[in-house]
Amino acid sequence: MKPLVLASNNAGKLEEFRGLLAASGFDVRAQAEFSVADADETGLTFIENALLKARHACRATGLPALADDSGICVDALDGAPGLYSARYAGGHGNAEANIDKLLRTLRDVPDAGRTAHFTCVLALMRHAEDPQPIVVEGTWRGMITRERRGSGGHGYDPVFLDPARGQTAAEMPLAEKNRISHRGQAMVLLRERLASF
Ligand code: IMP
Repeated sequence: MKPLVLASNNAGKLEEFRGLLAASGFDVRAQAEFSVADADETGLTFIENALLKARHACRATGLPALADDSGICVDALDGAPGLYSARYAGGHGNAEANIDKLLRTLRDVPDAGRTAHFTCVLALMRHAEDPQPIVVEGTWRGMITRERRGSGGHGYDPVFLDPARGQTAAEMPLAEKNRISHRGQAMVLLRERLASF
């Protein structure tokens, strides 16, 4: 198995990527194992931030690295909160405050204008100077509801409606969400690209 560093310390993501990439011959290791500090996410796009994180982990470990960057983009807000999804309401990762702020901001936006999408970029670099990293992007389109629905998931899931299913991401069984989500789609694309890695 070839070692691959995951540029994240999120235990859930580590398990997910481990399962996905074992079939491609990769032994996925958390960057914390190598004492890699978090990279500065100074990019202005999801792609830039994913590349910054992957390059930082490659440089610190001398190993190939995989990074992800994700968020929710609301059309009526020109793509905000976008890169800043986790800290939309100020503090990092306060999902309740983030949702409150989003619903407040969209209060006067009519139903037809409440379109949004989740996006997930995955970047895999063979080494820190890799001029051709593998970059894939998954997108999940939906609508922002007027109130929370469902108790599963995380982040913005309770207010993200999948119109075809008539359910918010927080109302879906997790396996179903993982199959259709931005992250699930990006993972499928990554696995396809890894066939020629
Ligand atoms: P990160 O890329 O894991 O740091 O995620 C950035 C932020 O985007 C998260 O903190 C959430 O606010 C939001 N986000 C990304 N993916 C999802 C999702 O699947 N459901 C809900 N919120 C998400």
